[in-house]
Amino acid sequence: MSKVVKFGGSSLADAKQFMKVAEIIRADENRRYVVPSAPGKRFAKDTKVTDMLYACYDLAEQGGEYKEALKAIKERYQEIIDGLGLKLSLKEEFEVIDENFAKKAGRDYAASRGEYLNGIVLAAYLGFEFIDAADVIFFSDKDGTWDGEKTRQVLSRRLKGCKNAVIPGFYGSLPGGKIKTFSRGGSDITGSIVAQAAGVDVYENWTDVSGFLIADPRIIDNPRKIEVITYRELRELSYMGATVLHEDAIFPVRQEGIPINIRNTNAPDDEGTWIVGSTGQKSKYVITGIAGKKGFCSVSVEKDMMNSEIGFGRKVLSAFEEQGISFEHMPSGIDTLTVFVHQDEFIDKEQKVVAGIHRNVRPDTIEIESDLALIAVVGRGMKSTRGTAGRIFSALAHSNVNVKMIDQGSSELNIIIGVDNKDFETAIRAIYDIFVLTAI
Ligand code: ADP
Ligand code: ASP
Ligand code: MG
Repeated sequence: MSKVVKFGGSSLADAKQFMKVAEIIRADENRRYVVPSAPGKRFAKDTKVTDMLYACYDLAEQGGEYKEALKAIKERYQEIIDGLGLKLSLKEEFEVIDENFAKKAGRDYAASRGEYLNGIVLAAYLGFEFIDAADVIFFSDKDGTWDGEKTRQVLSRRLKGCKNAVIPGFYGSLPGGKIKTFSRGGSDITGSIVAQAAGVDVYENWTDVSGFLIADPRIIDNPRKIEVITYRELRELSYMGATVLHEDAIFPVRQEGIPINIRNTNAPDDEGTWIVGSTGQKSKYVITGIAGKKGFCSVSVEKDMMNSEIGFGRKVLSAFEEQGISFEHMPSGIDTLTVFVHQDEFIDKEQKVVAGIHRNVRPDTIEIESDLALIAVVGRGMKSTRGTAGRIFSALAHSNVNVKMIDQGSSELNIIIGVDNKDFETAIRAIYDIFVLTAI
């Protein structure tokens, strides 16, 4: 039995948290490979080291005075080192970082130093070997995507001869050595990659909540926990804003069927949530989870008889594609088709897209609505339960939420609902209440 353990930023925000982490690792010798994030927030209004690094580098890049900002970052690490009673010095590391900032080494390089330095500190504290992610995690120079094959070859070889190691999360390197990061929250992906390459039995992802909760705890007070969730359900939820685990983190482990266990660093005895390939275990409620995001626009195109016009959908979508805009959802009726897009990507190009649609399909009308939110209600149990959409509708009507769109995926794994941004929280509460609190 062996495990990869990933600890998020709040789990490593200060020396006290480092001590909890070390205790967790030492409590089980199967916890062989450790993937840390950069130090996160110590209190609600604190700033994550990653954000400090981005801000500091932006100053450097604009030719501004960045030394004070870099000093504040150094102090965050020094406080941890002192709190742990370590004899480690990061003086030389910070000299190199300073030089590279002056040379404008790139935003990704800058952000990656958060994990890199935290990895050095944690390895020293645990007495584990430190492996720089730049030497074992690779991106392709063609399109900047993760190079799974090369990574697996190099990383599994490297880990074979190594009983314990700390591998920093969030970054790797391009051919030629330039540092590249994953998108925000990407240490979760590194944990999954290390789990795959090492062929471990479990990927434990330690955070500040006792598992994946049915809904965002910032919206619902004390939401109930999900005991077991499938990779597919989880991907739907994390894509739609349940930020506990990065939406791409399941791919490497999924290939090997390695389960992920979400755990709480501040409550290590809690069992957490199991994320698995498939399960015969029914979820406790009809739905497994709810998540959502604000900030969408809908573009509704109407034209009589459009359903019989071959290529209509493609021609509408090409007007978005021409402007480099990806779409989120596209529910359609007989004579209408609606495209949901991210408002911030769309807003500047709105008129160009509208002109493109007019040119491509000569519609009767085009209507645009902004400030919309999308909510995903996800559950493997929905397939075998009738009336789920109806229950959602009536719960929302009872709460005076105007439903703009409801779209059930063909997999019957999720239902997507569009509401006004201002109704977002009310809608999530109403859905949670009907399926969880008043569940029979
Ligand atoms: P880490 O720093 O450990 O990677 P994150 O901040 O990325 O942690 O993710 C954990 C946070 O995700 C929680 O503190 C919680 O506020 C938020 N969150 C959003 N949706 C959910 C959910 N459905 N279940 C649990 N946590 C959620
Ligand atoms: N430190 C990075 C971030 O804040 C990566 C991570 O924490 O997973 O996004
Ligand atoms: Mg995270």
